[in-house]
Amino acid sequence: MSEIMLKVTGLKVAYGGIQAVKGATLEVHAGELVSLIGANGAGKTTTLKAITGLLEPKDGSIEYLGRSIKGQGAWELVKQGLVMVPEGRGTFTRMTITENLQMGAFTRDDKEVEADIEKVFDIFPRLKERRHQLGGTMSGGEQQMLAMGRALMARPKVLLLDEPSMGLSPIMVDKIFEVVNDIHQRGTTVLLVEQNASRALGLANRGYVMESGEVTMAGEAKALLNDPKVRAAYLGE
Ligand code: ATP
Repeated sequence: MSEIMLKVTGLKVAYGGIQAVKGATLEVHAGELVSLIGANGAGKTTTLKAITGLLEPKDGSIEYLGRSIKGQGAWELVKQGLVMVPEGRGTFTRMTITENLQMGAFTRDDKEVEADIEKVFDIFPRLKERRHQLGGTMSGGEQQMLAMGRALMARPKVLLLDEPSMGLSPIMVDKIFEVVNDIHQRGTTVLLVEQNASRALGLANRGYVMESGEVTMAGEAKALLNDPKVRAAYLGE
C-alpha cells in the first residue's frame, strides 16, 4: 500500500462545552483523492481546522508524513505542504489576482514563484485573463479558483479543500469539480470535504461519512456511492 500522508486517530475537538468532533479516525494515502461527506454541522470543517493547526484538539493524534504534528501552527504546516483552501475562500479583496497568488507563496524562498504562477494560469485560464483585476471584484466561482490557485502556490503535498462547490452556480460547480480532478490527476494528494456527496464520491478513490461528530462509514468511493444508506441520506433517494 502507498505511503500514509495523513493519519487522524480518535480526534476530539470541542468549542467550549460543545463536542463538535467526538473521536474521528481517517487516513489519506499518497496520490489519493479522499472525500469526507456529511450533513451540515457534522464536524467536517472542524476536523479540517484541527488537522491544519487552526483548532487545538482535546484528544487524539494527527500524523502528517509519519510524524505527530501536535502543537504545530498553521504556518509551519503550510511550509511542510499541508495546505487548506478554507470554506468562504478568504480572497485578499484589495489585491490583484497575481498579488493574491504571490501571497500563496509566502512560505517559500525559492526562485520558482513566477514559474508556478504560470502553472496556476495553465490550470485556471480565467485567472490569467483577469490577473490585474482586484480579488474582491471576482465572482464567487472565480474567487474559489483563486483560493485554489493560491493554495497550489504553496506547493501542497496534501491539499485540503473545504466545500469548494458551496454557493456556486451549476456551471461553476462543474468547473470546480473538473479542476479538483485535474489537480489530483497532476499528482497532488487531496482531502475533499463536500456536502455534494455524489460529485465528491464520483471523483474520489475512497470516502468517509461523518455524522454528529463521528466517522460512521468508510470505504471505497464506488462502494459508498452504491450503499443504500448513503444513497438515502446523502443522495436524495
Ligand atoms: P458545514 O457543512 O455546515 O460547515 P460541518 O460538517 O463542517 O458543517 P462544523 O462546521 O465542523 O460542521 O461544525 C460542527 C459543530 O460544531 C456544529 O454543531 C457547529 O454548530 C459547531 N461549531 C462550529 N464552529 C463553532 C464555533 N466557532 N463555536 C461553537 N460551535 C461551533
